[in-house]
Amino acid sequence: MAYDPMNIFARILRGEIPNRTVMESAHTLAFHDIAPQAPVHVLVIPKGAYVDLADFSANASAEEITDFHRTVAQICAMTGLRPGEGFRAIANAGEHGMQEVPHYHLHLLGGRVLGRMLEKV
Ligand code: 5GP
Repeated sequence: MAYDPMNIFARILRGEIPNRTVMESAHTLAFHDIAPQAPVHVLVIPKGAYVDLADFSANASAEEITDFHRTVAQICAMTGLRPGEGFRAIANAGEHGMQEVPHYHLHLLGGRVLGRMLEKV
């Protein structure tokens, strides 16, 4: 899938749409989800133009990947997800993953028991 520079997270990165930033680093931005599904619901996104987790993992530099995951660790500490009662990280991708925004983002969710990962089929 080609990257769409008009996606909503690209617009947030360009400052065209406001966000509630949790933290920002050289290559990564983290902000509160606009429609939180748990007491803590933070989205972590790379500043680079990557469509999904597979694109980011294949094509981002080691510096970007390290920066992203170090930011995840800092957010877990800042928001009390870890140490704490635990949390869930979700990366939806594509049609089957029901990804809405085609810019890679990791959902960090916690603050309550989150239930099973998937419904049984
Ligand atoms: P996806 O389904 O693509 O994994 O998740 C997209 C997430 O982005 C959703 O949880 C949705 O609430 C969130 N979202 C969509 N538009 C905005 C926005 O303009 N600002 C923020 N902060 N979150 C958004």
